[in-house]
Amino acid sequence: MIDLRSDTVTRPTDEMRAAMARAEVGDDVYGEDPTVTALEERVAALFGKEAALFTPTGSLANVLAVRTLVEPGQEVLCESAAHIARAELGAHGAVSGITMRTWHHPRGQIDLQQIGTLFAPDLGPYFVQTKAIAVENTHNFAGGAVLPLDDLRALRVYADGVGAAIHLDGARIWNAHVATGVALAEYGAIADVLAVCLSKGLGAPVGSLVVGSAAAIAESRVRRKRLGGGMRQVGILAAAGLHALDHHVERLAEDHAHARLLAEACGVDPTGVDTNIVVVPRENAPAFVAAAKEQGVLISAVGVNAVRIVTHLDISKADAEAAAAILARL
Ligand SMILES: *Cc1c(COP(=O)(O)O)cnc(C)c1O
Repeated sequence: MIDLRSDTVTRPTDEMRAAMARAEVGDDVYGEDPTVTALEERVAALFGKEAALFTPTGSLANVLAVRTLVEPGQEVLCESAAHIARAELGAHGAVSGITMRTWHHPRGQIDLQQIGTLFAPDLGPYFVQTKAIAVENTHNFAGGAVLPLDDLRALRVYADGVGAAIHLDGARIWNAHVATGVALAEYGAIADVLAVCLSKGLGAPVGSLVVGSAAAIAESRVRRKRLGGGMRQVGILAAAGLHALDHHVERLAEDHAHARLLAEACGVDPTGVDTNIVVVPRENAPAFVAAAKEQGVLISAVGVNAVRIVTHLDISKADAEAAAAILARL
């Protein structure tokens, strides 16, 4: 089977497993796991922030990050297909008491005009107060679309003008960095707080981080423990993340090339494929997914009229070419 359902399906490489086995560990709830501390310090520095916090999932990182900016009973604005709005099972409402209103863009992009219409810092005692704006780079459900740096900077200027904070869901910020050449610290500079994942394209089995100010991270450390996310000798997982940062970032360019190759085979303009995700419009998507599976290619349906193809660490050029031939035939 050639598995193109998601970049979460990767398995740790032998080298990654060896790094995990070697990791020095301690009790991280006591702040005594040197490998976790090294990962947190390294990721904070990459984004030009004071501190970072290791979490089991990106969803938890997003919940903690947004909560540093928004109090219960207040709101965050985001794009309508944002992961925080669609794919975190209502956690920001259910856990944090935070509501959302959304703008819509078919490619998940920033739209300052719509944001300006939604933004309501204080309309009196009858309306929820907007505290933050969340953006997603790359945008998952918009097909791995990159948010241009100029748009992010314009959002920062807007947010500073109106007193809003910015959260960046950077589950795949590494893909955006490799696709554009924009430094991670440039992305860090436009956001008050970020969530980044090691378990997507970077190929670690587990792990995400919240990245931000020392105060935001201290607060998040308390809330992580409160939610049951305090972990002990978890340096074995942090070691996978450190290994991924050393060896699996620059190679994301290969995933992007494979995605363009697969797009072309499926009749999708490859110039519209920014990173490692291809969305193919296709009537009766579930039937197409089933037919591809029969031929040895796993892809996923997004609704009834589109399929999603995701390239990753475990897809070689030969795999991508074989899958492209099968999908083209179908
Ligand atoms: C995968 C993902 C997350 C986090 O997902 P987990 O499965 O909770 O690790 C957050 N945001 C985006 C955009 C994602 O694609």
